[in-house]
Amino acid sequence: MAVKVAINGFGTIGKRVAEAIVKQDDMELIGVTKTRPDYLAMAASKRGLLYVPENKLEDFKKADLEVAGTIDELFQKVDVVVDATPGGVGKEYKPLYEKYGVRAIFQGGEKHEVAGFSFSTLCNYDDAKDKQFVRVVSCNTTGLLRLLCTLNKEFGVERVRATIVRRGADPHETKKGPIDAIVPNPVTLPSHHGIDVRTVLPVDIATTAVVVPTTLMHVHVVNVILKEEVSRDQVIEALNKAPRILLVPTKISGIKDTAKLIEMARDMGRKRHDLYELAVFEESISVNGKELFLMQAVHQESIVTPENVDAIRAMFGLATKEESIRKTDESLGLVR
Ligand code: NAD
Repeated sequence: MAVKVAINGFGTIGKRVAEAIVKQDDMELIGVTKTRPDYLAMAASKRGLLYVPENKLEDFKKADLEVAGTIDELFQKVDVVVDATPGGVGKEYKPLYEKYGVRAIFQGGEKHEVAGFSFSTLCNYDDAKDKQFVRVVSCNTTGLLRLLCTLNKEFGVERVRATIVRRGADPHETKKGPIDAIVPNPVTLPSHHGIDVRTVLPVDIATTAVVVPTTLMHVHVVNVILKEEVSRDQVIEALNKAPRILLVPTKISGIKDTAKLIEMARDMGRKRHDLYELAVFEESISVNGKELFLMQAVHQESIVTPENVDAIRAMFGLATKEESIRKTDESLGLVR
């Protein structure tokens, strides 16, 4: 029987996960929540999927939007809630999930402790089985973990130092910046990204971060000390074998930057230019004994979509890791 899923927080991440759930043959989307009537609420209402807080029913009535029920009613109808509310709001909902005995998947904006278990498919899929609460790590952490768990499995990872060049805002976020600055954020070292990696992969890692005026993607400049000496070809072979990592040969493809990566996603017909794959610039891969350098790009709005789908299969024991990756990636059209 299909696992019944609710999406709480129907924004950047929530709407993508909702659409991905609809594409799975072992999951059923029962409803999404909105706290304010807007165009997304209208779309959900037309499909009979709109659930709202009880104290907001009147607002939706005034906006002439039909609702299928209250948020509390939704949580009682489903097996799992994907909580994609803004960072920090998910923890406020946890008591409600506990009250109704429903499982929940939090996002990277929540602290690890909220779920007590942080998830990334390539690293710890099997450990999510039977958990009530799981947290899918953030976009940057997902990008780092796809790389590091692949390298760790093949060669062992001794130490990681990385700089995260973060996008200033998502494309629709008109009130965020910077518009004309490069902002060390945080200015104190290390940044939280490496600390977050360690909630999944216990490795010596330190990261720094700067925010730049772009909306499209993040870029990571990564330096890894491996446990054994490797050749560049071995690294390329390992990354080529791994799912969800796309090696981009910049010279022959002409894709030399994040703008062109996003243009490629558009030309591939990806909805909202979503690029679920971690994009590694192939020519940036450089090896010296045990030391590896590379640069990679993360489409922040979409990279965690496949991991949210896998997290449901992992929690409910619906499929093996390999089977889940195959089903998720085929349904979303990943090329790697
Ligand atoms: P968002 O602001 O785009 O969407 C959040 C949605 O939740 C909005 O529709 C908002 O109206 C709704 N909401 C607000 N308060 C609510 C409440 N009390 N109850 C129900 N719904 C409520 O945010 P987002 O970017 O989708 O982020 C969601 C989570 O995903 C955060 O934890 C974030 O850190 C994480 N995340 C974001 C990105 C990204 O780049 N946007 C990437 C990975 C992970």
